[in-house]
Amino acid sequence: MVAKKDMLVGTIDKLADNLSRLPYFARMPATLHKKTKIAIIGGGVAAANCAYALSKRGLRATIYCQDDALAQGASGNAQGGFYPQLNAEAGHASQIHALSFNYASKLYRQLLSQGVHYSHQWCGTFQIAFNDKVASRYRKLIANKTWPDALIHWIDAQQATKIANLELPYPGLYIPQGGWINLPELVAGLVKAADSSIVINQQLTSLERENGAWRLNWQNGGQSDADIVIMATGSDSGDFQQMSALPFRLVRGQVEAINSQNQLADLSTVLCHKGYLTPAWQGCHAMGSTYVKDDKSRDYRLSEQQTNLTMHQQAMMKCDWMKDIQPTTHGRAAIRCSTPDHLPMVGAVPDSKIQSEQYQDLYKALPAKHYPQPVNHNNLFMLCGLGSRGLTTAPLCAEILVSQILNEPLPLSSNLLDALNPNRFLVRGLIRRQG
Ligand SMILES: Cc1cc2nc3c(=O)[nH]c(=O)nc-3n(C[C@H](O)[C@H](O)[C@H](O)COP(=O)(O)OP(=O)(O)OC[C@H]3O[C@@H](n4cnc5c(N)ncnc54)[C@H](O)[C@@H]3O)c2cc1C
Repeated sequence: MVAKKDMLVGTIDKLADNLSRLPYFARMPATLHKKTKIAIIGGGVAAANCAYALSKRGLRATIYCQDDALAQGASGNAQGGFYPQLNAEAGHASQIHALSFNYASKLYRQLLSQGVHYSHQWCGTFQIAFNDKVASRYRKLIANKTWPDALIHWIDAQQATKIANLELPYPGLYIPQGGWINLPELVAGLVKAADSSIVINQQLTSLERENGAWRLNWQNGGQSDADIVIMATGSDSGDFQQMSALPFRLVRGQVEAINSQNQLADLSTVLCHKGYLTPAWQGCHAMGSTYVKDDKSRDYRLSEQQTNLTMHQQAMMKCDWMKDIQPTTHGRAAIRCSTPDHLPMVGAVPDSKIQSEQYQDLYKALPAKHYPQPVNHNNLFMLCGLGSRGLTTAPLCAEILVSQILNEPLPLSSNLLDALNPNRFLVRGLIRRQG
């Protein structure tokens, strides 16, 4: 026991709800009134999950999508692999992935039990230790006991062969809760469950504040208004003036739809390495995918088909059945919207110009209380930058966003929330004096 004379005494300035310990990462709620009109701009898993999270609170949003149907962008793949990105150290990104995966896993299963239909298979995912370097990384992950066994565990080549139902002479990491999901059907299911209004063929060209609300200007010359706007615009997000300063990274990807053939037809788990290969659905396997930076073209390319095939053959060199695979010239390409640290941007859209001034002396590392709360675009929120793991991260990110909008307790610790804050790149730049 420490004697009373040794006690240290101090006071903590009480922080209001939902404020980060760091004022510049404070999460400001929306201003709401009785008949708040909520518009979601988008049409993929980000938009659908936001609509669903709102509906759980009795709020009905209108989804505006520029295409003639939902899920025509990155969320258009018939079989997306569902698995988290876990590392040997539980850094912020890995923690966010583990928590997101757990949340999404429960939500997706709950939807099914509520009668929401979407094609899927909970067949697990197997991360192949396809060379010594990868194997030692995976062994470290297991040795560190970073993650529970139920989430991810080591299996040997014999177990892998049994689970995959195919000769697979590699050990690796198995994620039993994983699998694949048909994204367009999931999007349709979420939106239907949310009872959202959907307006298709409606392209937003710009938005501006008018009389305390947002005026949405459509490509067809029409206008609408909304009190709260959620931008879930994927690879087009940087086209809007309010988000143009955010560092989106656009990465084209092509995934093959390989006709089910020979031994490949027996595959019964998702195989992951640098790419992924799924069990068959409607006679095809998804074999993905390529990564081409700063390319917004969505044409199907034979050169990338070859890239996909070669990547899989190199990762599974010891598998004879892999050598026999005949490619089929169909598949699809789309654009991922990623970020420099590969984590989504979830929260209020920062007023980058004002925040650059507010925090210009961050490099001086003054006490936190010296800094004001951030100025954001009023009632404008975003869920963008889902990168290559949108199936895993979108549900929890949508839950965070809607909790913030409604000023509810937030479902993650403040350091993880800060790692998702859309203004984090601006803040980091100013701390390093690169703003
Ligand atoms: C080839 C490839 C393979 C992938 N594989 C996987 C995988 O295996 N597992 C996984 O989890 N993830 C995978 N991903 C990533 C995943 O698809 C994305 O993370 C996710 O779909 C992003 O969803 P989103 O809603 O943010 O974007 P999108 O699905 O692109 O949706 C954006 C929407 O916004 C709409 N929109 C844009 N601008 C406007 C406007 N001005 N007005 C109105 N509407 C607008 C678009 O029409 C579109 O519907 C893959 C991506 C690609 C490209």
